[in-house]
Amino acid sequence: MTPMPIATQNPATGEILETFDAHTPEQVQAAIATAHATFQEWRLTSFAHRAALLRRAADLLDEDNESIARLMTLEMGKTLKSARAEAAKCAKGMRWYAEHAEALLADEPVDPPAAVGASRAFARYAPLGVVLAVMPWNFPLWQVVRFAAPALMAGNVGLLKHASNVPQCALYLEDLFRRAGFPAGCFTTLLIGAREVEGVLRDPRVRAATLTGSEPAGQSVGAICGDEIKKTVLELGGSDPFVVMPSADLERAAEVAVTARCQNNGQSCIAAKRFIVHDAVYDAFAEAFTRRMAALVVGDPMDEATDVGPLATEGGLRDVDALVDDARAKGASILCGGRPVDGPGWFFEPTVVADMTPDMAMYAEEVFGPVAGLYRVADIDEAITLANGTTFGLGSNAWTTDPDEQDRFVRDLDAGVVTINGMTISYPELPFGGTKRSGYGRELSAHGIREFCQIKAVWVG
Ligand code: NAP
Repeated sequence: MTPMPIATQNPATGEILETFDAHTPEQVQAAIATAHATFQEWRLTSFAHRAALLRRAADLLDEDNESIARLMTLEMGKTLKSARAEAAKCAKGMRWYAEHAEALLADEPVDPPAAVGASRAFARYAPLGVVLAVMPWNFPLWQVVRFAAPALMAGNVGLLKHASNVPQCALYLEDLFRRAGFPAGCFTTLLIGAREVEGVLRDPRVRAATLTGSEPAGQSVGAICGDEIKKTVLELGGSDPFVVMPSADLERAAEVAVTARCQNNGQSCIAAKRFIVHDAVYDAFAEAFTRRMAALVVGDPMDEATDVGPLATEGGLRDVDALVDDARAKGASILCGGRPVDGPGWFFEPTVVADMTPDMAMYAEEVFGPVAGLYRVADIDEAITLANGTTFGLGSNAWTTDPDEQDRFVRDLDAGVVTINGMTISYPELPFGGTKRSGYGRELSAHGIREFCQIKAVWVG
């Protein structure tokens, strides 16, 4: 297998703009050694000190908003407007952890009877040490920041192995933390390929790993860390359902459905991918949804008027095309779109596929592009069965104004996130993560920062 080059290749044109030499094994060893040494000092710093640096990083990121947004768009093709929003969200997430980390990780005292003979007893959240983050390209800043902000605030240090197609975003992040005043070794970017990850994971100085990416990548990292008895958080793929019931506001549901499917050019783990619609409103929803999907502006992601830019990689375009071809060949109806866009770059038309059947690959696989599958169901039981019918369990969305139906969806959707009358979004305040083959562990909120801690029981006589 030829390793993927570490390069910036503009997905809107296919042009390779810049290539980078991978770090040598010696450079990787040096980075781990520095990180490990830095941790011994960093873990002793106060929350106030860490928070001041993180706030400074947030301020710098806000100052850089336009330039880093352009870089993200150039490297992976998200629209410039969504790139700006992503950078702003990262600054907000940093400030949230700067403000709340100390309270989230405060010692938890237990009542004296629970620890007989103790003058005091408590649980303490202690940092783990060097944490490796293996990250995907689709949200090149946010995926990293939602690991880095809590991990650093908890007193850990981070190594980043970013996706090979976003090296400049990866280097920017290291530089950002350095400029904010974090000591060398607190946050280090490793320019390495996927095959070099194992060596880093097996290094005894590396104590834990978090991976956001595909199932095969999660399996590999999870297996190695299992072998090494190291903590992991895995945030993997999803094929989120978007259920529409008769009481829903259909026009609003259709409008949000388009954003839920096509955000980030259709390449979001928590994008709604399967639209499961009650028979009573199926035709009306299909019409309203298809009308909006067909009206989306596809084009240059730097253009302010563009709604949908290119897919990030040529391989990604081929995968989406093959899934739609397979559905078409097996009898699906294509209500709009259905083909790659002619010309340079890796664009795919916003597409609605109806008359889906279980033998179609699109039924079970994650579609990472602006392609929606429509499913007709007779009642809420069938909707929930179908929604839970994949191996994934990341996000889920249901539209209904009936309180009893809302309770059913909250109770019975087997997913890490349930969103009623909206679309799945991540917030610093709410835990984020999946169940089943979408992974385990949580990011964000108190749960996310505690993933990178070990819980020490303290008994003082
Ligand atoms: P990917 O191919 O799994 O890559 C993700 C990261 O893992 C990259 O840094 C990649 O490095 C590395 N990697 C790949 N194979 C590896 C292996 N065997 N061992 C160690 N590292 C490995 O995924 P992607 O195509 O970039 O991203 C899309 C996937 O991420 C989708 O499935 C999406 O749903 C998922 N995702 C999940 C979440 C979530 O929060 N649950 C969020 C965003 C995305 P190279 O680039 O060098 O190959």
